[in-house]
Amino acid sequence: MSNEPEYDVIIVGGGAAGLSAAIYSVRAMLKTLVIEKLALGGEILKTGDIENYPGFPEGIDGTSLAGLYEEQARRFGTEFKYDTVVELDVKNKLKRVVGDEREYTSKTVIIATGGEHNKLEIPGEEEFAGRGVSYCATCDGNFFRDMDVVVVGGGDAALDEGLYLTRLAKNVTVIHRRDTLRASKILQSRAFNTPNMNFIWDSIVEEINGNGDVKSIKLRNLKTNSQQELATEGVFIYIGFHPVSDYLKDIIDLDPAGHVATNLQMNTSVPGVFAAGDIRQFSDRQLGNAVGDGIAAALSAYRYIQEEEI
Ligand code: NAP
Repeated sequence: MSNEPEYDVIIVGGGAAGLSAAIYSVRAMLKTLVIEKLALGGEILKTGDIENYPGFPEGIDGTSLAGLYEEQARRFGTEFKYDTVVELDVKNKLKRVVGDEREYTSKTVIIATGGEHNKLEIPGEEEFAGRGVSYCATCDGNFFRDMDVVVVGGGDAALDEGLYLTRLAKNVTVIHRRDTLRASKILQSRAFNTPNMNFIWDSIVEEINGNGDVKSIKLRNLKTNSQQELATEGVFIYIGFHPVSDYLKDIIDLDPAGHVATNLQMNTSVPGVFAAGDIRQFSDRQLGNAVGDGIAAALSAYRYIQEEEI
């Protein structure tokens, strides 16, 4: 194989961080490839209205914004490839990125593979996945028109997506394990003022039951230890997120939870490898942060290439 890399920058992951990095990288005249395993846009594809991203005072839906990011990256010449990266060999100057389909080589690599939603890991969760159990209200909400659904979790994602569901479902019941929410105050206030959104406090879901499709859940009140069966047709689970970084173990430094350690310029522990977005340690997991990380990573990749070539 030639020692000349095919690309200046390979970006692994085509979410907001990866696509922002691509826009900056191609505009710096770097030959840039984005490798995405599923769908360009990442997390925002699972988000209905995005109201806190500057520049869109009326909000914008995640799918439209993802399309705009992609269009902008394509316009300046980014190449895209759908493949699943399974291995990185980044010890040397020539970086090898190994996908299921083929191997790619580059001068630099930007890791932007984000994470996945946590699971409850209770009986019925796997059995009824796609048949009442969902991790994406924006994708699946339409199947639950005029039905009763529950949302599990008390963070921003639970309330954001729960509020989206109130426009489709008859009733949305939020089940939270404590009696105060973790979500931001603005979402809390909106949730408490939405007539078809209700709350069950201090409770966890222990079982999801049904017959082909979800029919009910078994709840336990953590203060009284009492159990209750609640009829519902949909269970939307929003209990946090974990980074997808198994393929990076022993290759770059990760924190104990699996996030990639970086400095403020998005340098990882390996020269020429950068990380951006939700996979990065200390990320606030906001869209604007992912965009900023992607830009910083692309600028660092540019500087690294310049310095290496002097
Ligand atoms: P999160 O903030 O970590 O909240 C997770 C929620 O799930 C918490 O309320 C937690 O309860 C609960 N939980 C965790 N494990 C559980 C379990 N096993 N059983 C029952 N409940 C469990 O996660 P997130 O809501 O996905 O948000 C993650 C990040 O993304 C945050 O930084 C958030 O601001 C950001 N985000 C922002 C927006 C927005 O700005 N609109 C939307 C989505 C996400 P406790 O509270 O008791 O720990």
